Amino acid sequence: MKKTITFIFPMYNEAQNIAPLWKELQSIQKKISNYKAEFIFVNDFSKDNTLKLLQSLAKKEPTIKVLSFSRNYGHQLAVTAGQDLATGDAVVIMDSDLQDPPEVSLDLIQKWEEGYDVVYAKRRKYKTNFIKEKSAWLFYRILCKISSVNIPVDTGDFRLLSKRVNDEMKKYKENSRFLRGISSLVGFKQTAVLFDRKDRLNGNTGYTFLKSLKLAIDGITGFSVAPIRLISLLGAVFAFLSFVIGFSYVIISILTGANISGWASTITAIYFLGGIQLLMLGILGEYIGRIFIESLNRPLYTIDYEESRLK
Ligand code: UDP
Ligand code: MG
Repeated sequence: MKKTITFIFPMYNEAQNIAPLWKELQSIQKKISNYKAEFIFVNDFSKDNTLKLLQSLAKKEPTIKVLSFSRNYGHQLAVTAGQDLATGDAVVIMDSDLQDPPEVSLDLIQKWEEGYDVVYAKRRKYKTNFIKEKSAWLFYRILCKISSVNIPVDTGDFRLLSKRVNDEMKKYKENSRFLRGISSLVGFKQTAVLFDRKDRLNGNTGYTFLKSLKLAIDGITGFSVAPIRLISLLGAVFAFLSFVIGFSYVIISILTGANISGWASTITAIYFLGGIQLLMLGILGEYIGRIFIESLNRPLYTIDYEESRLK
């Protein structure tokens, strides 16, 4: 019996990319004809006619499943919904704007056949704007340094997961999801395949600055308590500094008899420490907010329309 490969595509306003994407996927399907292919398209409440196009495609193509959310839940949850529906022996997660070239999935499948459970596609070079590129570069390196699991650098969600990894990931119920961290956390044999990330084919990025920032914060708070440790460390440093400065003032005034004045330095110190304290409270608040959100235990997403239900 043929093994099944499930391909998952999260989609937010990707109407213009559906036809070219499907064309590429058909040629991939031919190249992997010794497998059964299944394609899951998850419409993340697009404002354009992504859903309509997907529905008409699914009518023609029996290998396509379509899911549609009741509101915009974001990329990570769109992929999660695809993972929940996937039936394949391996699951390939890819962006829908052709930035992740579908032919790279052939290399991912090959590595999987060699016995790897997670094969992630690692970016040899980025193709985004300068700020996004540099901030992503820095973010991946900071996260790699401070996280408790080994999250590979320069790697997005473009990856292959074996069925057992996909099934394990379903047990992770957190709302603030950082899938690349979770798939590292699951373990098993993992490896990388290098690729050149292309330009987005049509349309604009759905990852606004705020969405990228949320993902970065989810990545850090979900996989590291280093920011909380930073608070204790900074507290210790400032306590020590204040002791040194205070003690040196005492010595100076004893030795010289000078009456040390300093309105400006006092005010600056108050504002500076006030700022630091608020920042540190903010870091604590991030973790407390996470505890709150996760304690509500809300469902991860709500489905409005599911094509596979119609069959
Ligand atoms: N996406 C989504 N929901 C969103 C934003 C994006 O499902 O709220 C999808 C999008 O259609 C694409 C993938 O997630 O398939 C990556 O998004 P995008 O290409 O906009 O991000 P970038 O590549 O610019 O980081
Ligand atoms: Mg993109």
